[in-house]
Amino acid sequence: MGLKQLIREKALELGFEGIGFTGVEPLDLYIKEFRSRPEMYQWVTTPQFDLLRGAEVTQRYPWARSLLVLIRNYHRRRFPRQLIGVIGRCYQVDERKEKGSEHQRLMDFFAFLKDQGLKFRWDGEIPARMAAARAGVVTYGKNCFVYARGAMRGASWLESIPLVLDAELAPDEPSIELGCPDWCKNACVAACPTGALYAPKKMRPQRCIAYNTYFAPGLTPAELREPMGTWVYGCDRCQEVCPRNQPWLNQPLPDNPPLMARAEDFALERLLAMDTEYYLANIWPLCFYISRRQVAQWQMNAARALGNRGDREAAPLLARALADSPDYTVRAMAAWALGRLGGERAGKFLEAARPREDGMVRQEIEDALARARA
Ligand code: SF4
Ligand code: SF4
Repeated sequence: MGLKQLIREKALELGFEGIGFTGVEPLDLYIKEFRSRPEMYQWVTTPQFDLLRGAEVTQRYPWARSLLVLIRNYHRRRFPRQLIGVIGRCYQVDERKEKGSEHQRLMDFFAFLKDQGLKFRWDGEIPARMAAARAGVVTYGKNCFVYARGAMRGASWLESIPLVLDAELAPDEPSIELGCPDWCKNACVAACPTGALYAPKKMRPQRCIAYNTYFAPGLTPAELREPMGTWVYGCDRCQEVCPRNQPWLNQPLPDNPPLMARAEDFALERLLAMDTEYYLANIWPLCFYISRRQVAQWQMNAARALGNRGDREAAPLLARALADSPDYTVRAMAAWALGRLGGERAGKFLEAARPREDGMVRQEIEDALARARA
């Protein structure tokens, strides 16, 4: 058996859903798209992290001869009902810090490559979706996600994992194309609540809920707060509505007992009221894109989500955050959420907080009062 076939069989034996190979020439289409809209990608371009650098594989790895791309299905099991619409699915099973069985699958594959005498690198800067399409294992959707080819009932609940290899292996047939059916009239674009997806295959990252829950600094802009709904970390909306994902979503899947057991840790009320100790023990190990020091970002997101959930029973908890939080973004968002909930009790809480505040939080309280009374 040739080396390529041996590697392929091992990946499938370990439980990866797909594997493809491509060359190490620059990912030209990606570079072109990136350069056509540089202002939208400044936030992912730092001295430490640069996707354009990743698109030119041989500049960093002169020894590179092939790219291998693995497809990992992160939706093998059911997700807790209470986290749907709150935390994006891929983050709920991100085991990179906790090193669970999914992580072990990848470590076993690395051990296999090493046993074959191969040199390889796993580099997060390499544009994974484009590499997967060039390796022929996915096609694009108009929502900018990629969908499995010949696996996972064609769904997008996958992670593409590109690895740089020092062995020259024959590339597979690329599939850099749209796989959407003609009859779908851009349901993903219509469903995007913030207008981040503004046209087929066009997305403004800074308006995406994912970006605004875990990367955007400071107070969430007022015009995005309602559209962001109850999401506090990531967003799956444009994948949930997609007809290409319905065969996978509408099948029985086994439960995920460890995830079910910790789902309540992510209840919005707990997130808003948590202290740093709770955050570091229960939340950060799974959802680590928000730094260890930024518990306030979670609290701000939870306050906004509670306002959008519309349950007025949350008003006293929001009032406590407005009174006690040392972080102005949490107090400002708690005020906004009270205004969004509305009602006499929310109005009283806002009135009580008004004399204590000035500046931006005071303005949020004034705006919220006007709204609560409307
Ligand atoms: S993940 Fe959510 S906010 Fe981002 S493009 Fe999709 S629907 Fe829009
Ligand atoms: S919702 Fe329709 S247009 Fe959007 S990715 Fe899915 S099939 Fe394509």
